[in-house]
Amino acid sequence: MSASLEDLPLRDDLRGKIPYGAPQASVPIALNVNENTHPVPQEVADDILDGIAVALREINRYPDREFDTLREAFADYLGHGLTAQNMWAANGSNEVLQHIMQAFGGPGRTVFGFGPTYSMYPLLAAGTGAGWVAGERGHDFTLTPEFAAEQVAEADPDIILLCSPNNPTGTPLPIDVIEAVYEASRGVVVVDEAYWEFAPHDQRSALTLLHDRPRLAVSRTMSKAFAFAGARVGYLAANPAFIDALRLVRLPYHLSSLTQAAALGALRHADTMLAMVDDIVAQRDRMGATLSALGYEPYESWTNFILFGGVNDPAATWRALFERGVLVRDVGLPGTLRVSAGTEDETTAFLDQLASIDSQA
Ligand code: PMP
Repeated sequence: MSASLEDLPLRDDLRGKIPYGAPQASVPIALNVNENTHPVPQEVADDILDGIAVALREINRYPDREFDTLREAFADYLGHGLTAQNMWAANGSNEVLQHIMQAFGGPGRTVFGFGPTYSMYPLLAAGTGAGWVAGERGHDFTLTPEFAAEQVAEADPDIILLCSPNNPTGTPLPIDVIEAVYEASRGVVVVDEAYWEFAPHDQRSALTLLHDRPRLAVSRTMSKAFAFAGARVGYLAANPAFIDALRLVRLPYHLSSLTQAAALGALRHADTMLAMVDDIVAQRDRMGATLSALGYEPYESWTNFILFGGVNDPAATWRALFERGVLVRDVGLPGTLRVSAGTEDETTAFLDQLASIDSQA
């Protein structure tokens, strides 16, 4: 008695679509989904557990629907004069982005991003029945203010998603591109800073642009720098009116009390959690240098991963690495593969295995 998707009364606009599908395989060295491969330090884990234990005592009650304490903690962490009224959070920044799609997208509306970019954007747009328009990038996936603004003015989208730095390419997004796109648009402009903590520390975050720009929002996640992917916590900073719009579409009590307690615990230890970031950046840069030495062409990256070109047969190299216990990502860009920076040992294992494949080719 098995039915297929075609037999079900699925929405017409979802027919033929493919779900998000990074392969899930159990391998010793998993460097395919840009996770932080460092475990949460024991003393932080213990403190988080204490917070969860307290939350459990009241688990018969619904959680704080407005998650006021957590919003305050996010505002404190971000700085820039932000307050709890500027903050939003959800189960991963994917859900934050989904709330934006639900509030500002929907049937007949357009979502715009510069491809190649995060593969969930078109799926999130489609989930609300909105159309997706992919703009173009220039040389090495970079963008100039003029080229970006011109395309945005032409497409006239309701939502613009700017991934800064960009996934899957790692490319930095100059702050004047964000300013130019904002000026050229009438829709909401969302800067996805999922990987911001891995960018050079002297660079300006889009958070510095929020003042006086009510259509601008900056999303972040605890999944990467905070090594908290399994907890599912993403957050966003914007004008309070923007936050009110998101409140219209969220499910009541969408952030469980256990999630709120866990996130608060991790934020209490932000310094310890972020100490791993410098280590990962060092591994990323070592990986870039070694990839070049091996004859590959790594793209500039401000993230915790590197896209590298010069791969003759990405599918074959992906498989050869997989057979050696190393999982990387073939993101479908010709001649490239993407790999996350791991711990020093994991990064060395990846580089050694890649070198060994190379010498056999
Ligand atoms: N934005 C970007 C650019 C990402 O790469 C990811 C995760 N890979 C996300 C958002 C979503 O992350 P999460 O839902 O874990 O916060």
